[in-house]
Amino acid sequence: MKNSAKSTDSTARWRDAARGLRPLANPRLFSTPEAKAIKKEICAVGRKLWLRQFVDGNGGNISYRIGPNEVICTPTMVSKFDLTPADLCMVDLDGNQIVGTKPATSEISLHLEIFKAVPEARAAVHCHPPHATAYAVTGLVPPNLVIPEFEIFVGKVAIAPYETPGTGAFARTVLPFVKQHNTVLLTNHGAVCWADRVTVAEWNCEILDTYCTILAFAAQLGAPLLRISEQKAADLLARKKRMGLPDIRFAAGAGKQSRAASGRIPERPSNRKARAGRGARLTAAEITAAEIEALVRRVTREALEEMGAQ
Ligand SMILES: [Zn+2]
Repeated sequence: MKNSAKSTDSTARWRDAARGLRPLANPRLFSTPEAKAIKKEICAVGRKLWLRQFVDGNGGNISYRIGPNEVICTPTMVSKFDLTPADLCMVDLDGNQIVGTKPATSEISLHLEIFKAVPEARAAVHCHPPHATAYAVTGLVPPNLVIPEFEIFVGKVAIAPYETPGTGAFARTVLPFVKQHNTVLLTNHGAVCWADRVTVAEWNCEILDTYCTILAFAAQLGAPLLRISEQKAADLLARKKRMGLPDIRFAAGAGKQSRAASGRIPERPSNRKARAGRGARLTAAEITAAEIEALVRRVTREALEEMGAQ
């Protein structure tokens, strides 16, 4: 999106953006009643992240795309527990700060890449939730088909390769994944989740970390995970599709893409068998290639049947 447009009406500005014309940033969007509510929500979410120990020191950042070229975000060097609405900033989609007395987070470019790539993404939360980050520092993604709510709200998690935080290269690591995943692990770093609302993006972080915690506890029991059956999993995916939530399993050739998403080379079958016995050590990419192919076929068939029934 290189060109600029001069529309001032909100609907027209979003329409321009959808056509690839980026409107000039409007600083007044920082002080509207909507902005006031969003700032309160961002501060509440910051406090939740800190209380759940998902952010440490000044870590983590939260943002909301309030206009087609305007993003309200957290500043750098402020604990998410201590955030107040007066601390927040506004940047344009190029990362230029438009409003705010404190400098915007140095990781804002990560959020902006997501907003530019996914029109449905209006909010992003980046944090370092310990149990999810345990996966990120081992290069593993959590296995699927264990807890139904996780399948619906998060689903398959991608893992982006490591890059130095705050750089453009770091921000771009998520680009291959964010259209079909609302949750991406960042290797040796943490996680980023997007949604239509700030609160929901934070929920996705909670759902991810609780899931990873359960998997860690289950691994200590030494018994293999019980898996949701293919038939029941297809029900979940069909419901998810109706809810309009993204999932890479809706795409054709999902098995192939899920291997690419993990960034890992598939292991020999003998290694897979040995790792399968350790439950939580098994990655989604290793488990699900064949299952996902079957699920996609089934969901497609059910969707066609539903369409026929209407
Ligand atoms: Zn970080």
